[in-house]
Amino acid sequence: MIYVIGSGPAGVSCSKALLERGEKITMLDAGNEPEEKITQKLELFRKNPDHTEITSLKGTLDTRGQDSPLKLSYGSDYPYQGTPKITEKNVLCRTSHAQGGLSTVWGAAIMPYLAKDCSTWPLKYSELDTYFKKVLEFMPIAGYKDELEEYFPLHSKPTPYPRCSQTKLLLETMNKNKKKLASQNIFFGHARLAVHFNGTKDKPACIKCANCLYGCPLQIIYSSSFTLKELLKNPNFNYEQGIIVEKISEENDTAIIHAGDSKKNKKLTFRGERVFVACGSALTTRIMMKSLDVKEITLKDSQHFVIPCLTLRRAKGVSNEKLHTLSQAFIELIPSEGKSAHLQIYTYNDLYEQRLKQMFGKMYSPLKPILNLLLERIIAIQGYLHSDDSSEITIKENGNELQQELNPLTETKAKQIIKLLRRNTFKLGFTPIPFMNKLSKSAGGSHIGSSFPMGTKSDLLGRPIGLQRIHLVDSSVLPSIAAQTITLTAMANAYRIGATTNLK
Ligand SMILES: Cc1cc2nc3c(=O)[nH]c(=O)nc-3n(C[C@H](O)[C@H](O)[C@H](O)COP(=O)(O)OP(=O)(O)OC[C@H]3O[C@@H](n4cnc5c(N)ncnc54)[C@H](O)[C@@H]3O)c2cc1C
Ligand code: SF4
Repeated sequence: MIYVIGSGPAGVSCSKALLERGEKITMLDAGNEPEEKITQKLELFRKNPDHTEITSLKGTLDTRGQDSPLKLSYGSDYPYQGTPKITEKNVLCRTSHAQGGLSTVWGAAIMPYLAKDCSTWPLKYSELDTYFKKVLEFMPIAGYKDELEEYFPLHSKPTPYPRCSQTKLLLETMNKNKKKLASQNIFFGHARLAVHFNGTKDKPACIKCANCLYGCPLQIIYSSSFTLKELLKNPNFNYEQGIIVEKISEENDTAIIHAGDSKKNKKLTFRGERVFVACGSALTTRIMMKSLDVKEITLKDSQHFVIPCLTLRRAKGVSNEKLHTLSQAFIELIPSEGKSAHLQIYTYNDLYEQRLKQMFGKMYSPLKPILNLLLERIIAIQGYLHSDDSSEITIKENGNELQQELNPLTETKAKQIIKLLRRNTFKLGFTPIPFMNKLSKSAGGSHIGSSFPMGTKSDLLGRPIGLQRIHLVDSSVLPSIAAQTITLTAMANAYRIGATTNLK
């Protein structure tokens, strides 16, 4: 038997590749599902997208100053339930035991890495092209053909999505100045999103309800749990839910998985010819540290930061528009030397109003007419740096302690970016608000990995040195973490390992 552990984006990608080869596989998964009351409502909304209670699954998101508030799914923390308690020192690491893993809460931004930033990888980044295409056969890509394609191939035909007036104004300004911006190494375009905006055969099209950050009531923002549902129809696919893997070892030609059954509270052992591990890089690393008796290991991070900004032109009425609230535009900073940085622009969403209410307290109501004008100018940038420019994370104590190893260059890099944006205010159409930017703790952007990088600590099939039958297929094996979004590349690599491993 071949085992795949985890139903997140990496686990389903690897499974897809193995099943396409006609292999029989068993997926072991912690596999939390949303509460019954949520699934019942989702079923109702899927059939009735104009239901009056469509926004009733909206939870809360605390926007006060703490680092990256926990992003819930339909108001529930089920994706995080049961995950190991980890001591964190200036680190904020999200892990998941959900069906679909962290793709149940993600922002669905999908952008391949800048190939130039992967020039030291032991495989050419372009070798992944075939597998990007394979992944985009089962994961949707929404976006537009634009100038970003020169650096970031689309790999598939994107479906256009509705853009709000604020995005249109910004892109219009930037387009007017594109040559001057390019001369400053600033490139921009539409966001690329894993969303079925036009619906599918059994899901309605986007109703522009602006609920995206809380959980899509129509379930059209891609989660790998959708692919899991498809896989379950394949007779060669067996799924074991509620299995928590603790350790994996090899004996002669057999891989042995030591696990627990979370419901029956008993220990289990599974034996197979191969195991493909996709528990998300922090949990995969934890399992492998225990399995290989590794005392300390380094995890790389793509440092996350937030820059609230004000636009020069007011998007009149944007707060009443029907819109989606995922990122709608990307800016890529591509210097001739050094690594690129990736910026995601978030135009109007109701979190900005919540934040203003928290900031102004009792004064909010009397100031509302003025603050509403401000609201139509606020945008936020979520920025990411390459792992070379970011602090690293040391994992100790059997994976139970994560500690930031401060890179003094990181803060300087983020400041340089803010300066660059400020210098180009009139060409970009927005300016960073002074003193409001914030570097997150390490892992705060959830773009982490590279604990067993291919080429040094594992081979090109994700096998840690010395192992033959245990393959790590999530971002644990990426040689570095570039600034653009991590999941698409991790999925393509997982697919590649599943498609090319000699299983004899
Ligand atoms: C709020 C948020 C927003 C994000 N936005 C984006 C974005 O816009 N774009 C982007 O590219 N990335 C984004 N990410 C990161 C993205 O979600 C992850 O990169 C991706 O989900 C990782 O996929 P994975 O399959 O490696 O692991 P995960 O998604 O973490 O899945 C892990 C799987 O393994 C299972 N599992 C875990 N431990 C065990 C165990 N011991 N035994 C058995 N099963 C186990 C879980 O049940 C789950 O099925 C975001 C993350 C967060 C938290
Ligand atoms: S706006 Fe967002 S939450 Fe609403 S239907 Fe469209 S994608 Fe889903």
